Amino acid sequence: MNTNLYAIFRARFPDDLDDCWLETSDGLYYSWRDCERGSAKIANLFASLNLPAGARIAAQVEKSPEALMLYLATVRAGFVYLPLNTAYRATEMAYFIENASPSVVVCAPKNFGWIAQTAFARGTSHIFTLDEVSREVNQGRNSGSLLSRAVHFSDRFETVHRDPDDLAAILYTSGTTGRSKGAMLTHGNLASNITVLHDVWHWQKDDVLLHALPLFHIHGLFVAAHGALYNGSKMIFLPKFDSAEVIHHLPRSTIFMGVPTYYVRLLADPLFTRDKCSNMRLFVSGSAPLLADTCAQFSDRTGHTILERYGMSETAMLTSNPYLGQRKPGSVGPALPGVSVRVVNTEGDSCAIGEVGEIQVKGPNVFQGYWQMPEKTAEEFTDDGYFNTGDVGFFDDDAYLSIVGRSKDLIITGGYNVYPKEIESIIDEQPGVLESAVIGVPHPDFGEAVIAIVVPRADAALSEQAIIQTLKNTIANFKVPKQVHMVKELPRNTMGKVQKNLLRDQFKE
Ligand code: AMP
Repeated sequence: MNTNLYAIFRARFPDDLDDCWLETSDGLYYSWRDCERGSAKIANLFASLNLPAGARIAAQVEKSPEALMLYLATVRAGFVYLPLNTAYRATEMAYFIENASPSVVVCAPKNFGWIAQTAFARGTSHIFTLDEVSREVNQGRNSGSLLSRAVHFSDRFETVHRDPDDLAAILYTSGTTGRSKGAMLTHGNLASNITVLHDVWHWQKDDVLLHALPLFHIHGLFVAAHGALYNGSKMIFLPKFDSAEVIHHLPRSTIFMGVPTYYVRLLADPLFTRDKCSNMRLFVSGSAPLLADTCAQFSDRTGHTILERYGMSETAMLTSNPYLGQRKPGSVGPALPGVSVRVVNTEGDSCAIGEVGEIQVKGPNVFQGYWQMPEKTAEEFTDDGYFNTGDVGFFDDDAYLSIVGRSKDLIITGGYNVYPKEIESIIDEQPGVLESAVIGVPHPDFGEAVIAIVVPRADAALSEQAIIQTLKNTIANFKVPKQVHMVKELPRNTMGKVQKNLLRDQFKE
């Protein structure tokens, strides 16, 4: 049996290939037949290039139906897909190209000049642009518009045989600590995860996914797009998140997936009402912690409880609140079927219920290691094969997991461990506070000092002293921030994660 991911999806396409696969925000329809034929043409082009086995095809492209076909074509032709954040600039791109040595780089036409220079200098043999309008850019080497080249190839392609252990993609971690590492994911990793998510989220025959996430990240590509492909479901495919656009398309959709920031932005729009959500079946959140307050406001406004799940580039999805049972705000739910999740203390022993420790995981979804970093990979796996997620959390009585933070965010002050999330939760409950981030900064006596960065709600008059006083009355003194700084907003990356490294830099003095 061919366990190439594309073959798995293809077997589940609707019987009528003329059904709508993708609808774009400018009203274009792409059928399942377009998906099959478009990906075949690109796969044939790649197959004609005589690439080495296991060749990486890197893509830094804007989100579009063609970008999704490019991904599917890569997998279909048996190569390894390497999506890159569209925000990456020259030094970052140089690092990824150097590290992954892709044989092919596909970029946006506007970036062709500098990317071609960077990639050719590092041994990449083929650079293409992914543009809508046919355009030939050829500088005497193998480069040009991917689509205008692919169009001359056959629209039939026999999907290359792949085993579950063969690589399908390399996802570079967002690198909020140190250098980004390439997580190697196999056809089997991704297939097992989407099969489980399909069942636990009760995907249904007539589902329509409103897709607003980027395609270069696990959430948009391997959770959202894979979910729809595996279910043979139509996607309403937005180029990016825009609350007005999302609200406009919600009445014809049944599933929406987002990062917490999307939900905050939807709630800020008065046009986001219960009526608009009446056709909706499921709202999923992940990639960063969803505030209990956002969850509560969302239920009040729409009658829907957001379903929060937890996962990462290295492992795909790990836990999920249940579709039918209780969805607990502040928790990411129990382990997914087939995934083993444990919380251990510094000695490596299992923690008691409620006790905070390192989250470790094992399962068919867990990656094969970091690309060309065997030592880093070995460091992150335990002797009994568990991957150390770097997240810190605890289980409750019902085996629901809660995440307290990243272990690297742990603050050690005067020899005491401080988990930022505990303090952030107390600050966030205070009237006038929108959100907060607690970090450690270098301190001559304590090693690290706890400080808090607070975003006040609009028009709230907040006093730093009052926040500190409330904390003093609530928690042990060593956990109380030495300083509270007010800011207009917290720095976040595209996936909504607070960039504590930037805050630590900004406030280190
Ligand atoms: P990435 O590889 O970019 O998807 O980042 C993975 C990290 O995001 C995880 O290790 C967690 O720290 C964080 N994360 C993902 N989902 C959640 C969630 N539901 N709640 C809190 N943190 C999350």
